[in-house]
Amino acid sequence: MTKGILAILSAPSGVGKTTIIQRVMADDPNCAFAVSHTTRTPRKGEVEGRDYYFVDDQAFQHLVAADAFAEWAHVHGHRYGTSMAEIERLAGAGHDVIFEVDFQGGRALMRRFPEAVTVFIVPPSLGEVHRRLVGRGTDDDATIARRMHQARIEIATAGEYRYLVVNDDLDRAVTDVQAILRAERLRSIRFPERIRGLVAEPT
Ligand code: 5GP
Repeated sequence: MTKGILAILSAPSGVGKTTIIQRVMADDPNCAFAVSHTTRTPRKGEVEGRDYYFVDDQAFQHLVAADAFAEWAHVHGHRYGTSMAEIERLAGAGHDVIFEVDFQGGRALMRRFPEAVTVFIVPPSLGEVHRRLVGRGTDDDATIARRMHQARIEIATAGEYRYLVVNDDLDRAVTDVQAILRAERLRSIRFPERIRGLVAEPT
């Protein structure tokens, strides 16, 4: 029996991380997305329990006090956290678990799960992020400036992740993430019983 992998993916907003993850998951039914808790309100089209567990500040604080989170952080003025229950539920069912967290969550999960595979997704340029944020038309100039500043801070941590994927072409970025997961599943450390069994096999 091999255990599933834990994969931590981070990227600044506007880099297309969610789309990449959705594509990777659609192609691989054994991959499961670790749904985070958040105190922000749902965006149009977001579904409770699929995109996030949406909770108010008080409920979030109860979970913090109960030590329910593997990690949690303030991101863009709201709180986000990955619950231990969610990880145990998915990993316990034998899934490969995908975490989509900011760099603070990435750092905390790396400390907690040093065996996790870590991937940072970057844009081809910061100018491209700026164009995407402006194109989205949902943020005012001050918000865009803040997100650009935040993107620099996040990208500065990319070297702490094991892999770097550049999203200059969506198909290639998806294939790159799939290749990383595939290689991770093939690490010899995951197959001690198979190795022992082969060595012990009578000829
Ligand atoms: P959004 O509100 O756009 O869905 O996410 C905002 C940011 O919060 C993204 O960078 C996303 O990766 C991050 N995020 C989502 N869930 C978690 C979590 O459970 N923990 C942490 N630390 N960050 C999260």
